[in-house]
Amino acid sequence: MAEAIDHAGRPTARTALRRRGLGWLALVAAFALLAALPWVGGRDVLGLFMGDTARRGDTTLRLAVATMRGQLARFERLPQLVAETALVRALAAAPDDAAIVASANAYFKHVGAVIGASDIYYMDLDGTTRAASNYDTETSFVGGNFAFRPYFYEAAAGGQGRFFALGTTSRKRGYYFGAPVVDGERVLGVVALKVDLDAIEETWRGGDDEIIVTDPDGIIFLSSRAEWLFSAIAPLTPERRAQSAATRRYADATLRELPMAEAELRGGHRLAAVTEAGAEAREFLRLSEAMPDAGWTVSVLLDTSSARRQRLTALMLVVLAVALGSMALAVMVQRRARLRERLQMQTEAQAELERRVVARTSELASVNVRLEAEIGERKAAEQDLHKAQADLVQASKLAALGQMSAALSHEFNQPLAAARNYADNALTLIDRARISDARDNIGRILDLVDRMTSISKHLRSFARKPGQELVAVNLAEVVAASREIVGPRLRDVGAALIVDLPADLPLVVGGPVRLQQVLVNLISNAADAIEGHADRRIELAAHASAKGLRLTLRDHGPGVPASQRERIFDPFFSTKVVGKGLGLGLSISYNIIKDFGGDLRVADAPGGGALFIIDLRAAKAKSKARA
Ligand code: ADP
Repeated sequence: MAEAIDHAGRPTARTALRRRGLGWLALVAAFALLAALPWVGGRDVLGLFMGDTARRGDTTLRLAVATMRGQLARFERLPQLVAETALVRALAAAPDDAAIVASANAYFKHVGAVIGASDIYYMDLDGTTRAASNYDTETSFVGGNFAFRPYFYEAAAGGQGRFFALGTTSRKRGYYFGAPVVDGERVLGVVALKVDLDAIEETWRGGDDEIIVTDPDGIIFLSSRAEWLFSAIAPLTPERRAQSAATRRYADATLRELPMAEAELRGGHRLAAVTEAGAEAREFLRLSEAMPDAGWTVSVLLDTSSARRQRLTALMLVVLAVALGSMALAVMVQRRARLRERLQMQTEAQAELERRVVARTSELASVNVRLEAEIGERKAAEQDLHKAQADLVQASKLAALGQMSAALSHEFNQPLAAARNYADNALTLIDRARISDARDNIGRILDLVDRMTSISKHLRSFARKPGQELVAVNLAEVVAASREIVGPRLRDVGAALIVDLPADLPLVVGGPVRLQQVLVNLISNAADAIEGHADRRIELAAHASAKGLRLTLRDHGPGVPASQRERIFDPFFSTKVVGKGLGLGLSISYNIIKDFGGDLRVADAPGGGALFIIDLRAAKAKSKARA
């Protein structure tokens, strides 16, 4: 379906509104139709279903009218014929002639019997019956006066008399025809013929539909229902009552009104509701046909209950269809509304997503800019740092060089100056031939040279030989050898070296001579530290560790102050008096242990004193042990 869509692909608010409006309008219209159906359509629909009933009634009506017409037509001309017979003329001429009267009586009886008329009789101009077919019955008309009957005075006036009425003598309903008996221009009397209509009425009884025949005053005088007889379906006005009384149409039968309410349906159908006392109200479709000759109206009353039932069924079907239609419509409207809502939600969600993406993108962009700026800053800082480090290295190199130059010049200048003095003295002593003293001086010079040689030897240790072979070393053997070397020094200071080595120590990676150099160095330092102290124990212990082996050397001297801990492994750092310490021992030891892949550090010993810890790697079992 083409629909108004905005640039974002959403149905415009106006379209949505209009659609929703249309949906609701359709729903409201459907419900209005549903509600109005029984009111608006009821009568029309009833009229529609009355069609069938009416067609059926029409046939019945035609038949009834045809029967009545036939019956009347059969007798219409007969009074005229009878009036023209010689006998009747003779009777008119001499109504008191007993012989003629007797013949006329017999003749009337015969004709009546032959043609099936109820009664035939002759009246003189006074209206008195002179001869009758029923002359020999109890209800004989002879002598009776019927001057009040229209058929008489109409015929006496020279016309054709017709009338229907309840016989005053016979108390039977009949249709009366009157014909004048004329002699030239003069009317002498009237021949009357009464047709019995009971037989026709008899054939109507027992049918589904009711048939009634009413007179011009609306009084029922023929009816398929006996109880409706002599009931008026039109209001019984005083004029009507007077008219009936004047013609004595219904003799002395009491007239009443039939409680019938009539209404006209669309389509021209007339509905007649009859409410009889003590019975349920019944509704009929009334079809009528006038018989102007006779002055009658023949009506067929058809029960409308079946038509009503049909209408009800049809109505219910329509209601059901409309209800179903409305429900389908409602469901459709609802579904479309839901679909629209979902679409709307989707577009909203998408818009929200897009908005967030835009926001996030701009955030990221700004973060990126910041990051780039930071990276730039970092790079600059790094460059600064590198420069500062380089400067520092340069400065510390220079400082170390200066320190070392100072230490070296100090270490070498003193013995050189002393050696020069001894050499001068030796020269003077040789000149004076004091050879023994001179020798003594030269001996001192040699001592000084030895000391300087020892310094330069130590310095050589710094020239490391990285390629030197590492082997598996037995620590216990190295400790024993070291102990021998430091023995005299320990004795000098009165120190006790307590060695605690477990028997199953692993072999370690290293070089035996260099490891021994380290141990001698550390033990000598400990001996220096405890000199003059009360507790002169030096404890050497080892145990297997996770990496291999840990060796600890502890003394009970002053310990290493925290401020010096960083520096004691630097070359030429020494707190000892000049000539006693070179400040190279720990520095060299540190480098040796690093070469072994191990670690050397100083820690605080609980209870005072220094604690040196050496970690060494364990050698693989197959490595060959060397002393
Ligand atoms: P030197 O022994 O020639 O001074 P070292 O490098 O062996 O050189 O030692 C450097 C310094 O470390 C020593 O001067 C001393 O101050 C300190 N030191 C070393 N061992 C000990 C120790 N066991 N107790 C206290 N101080 C020590």
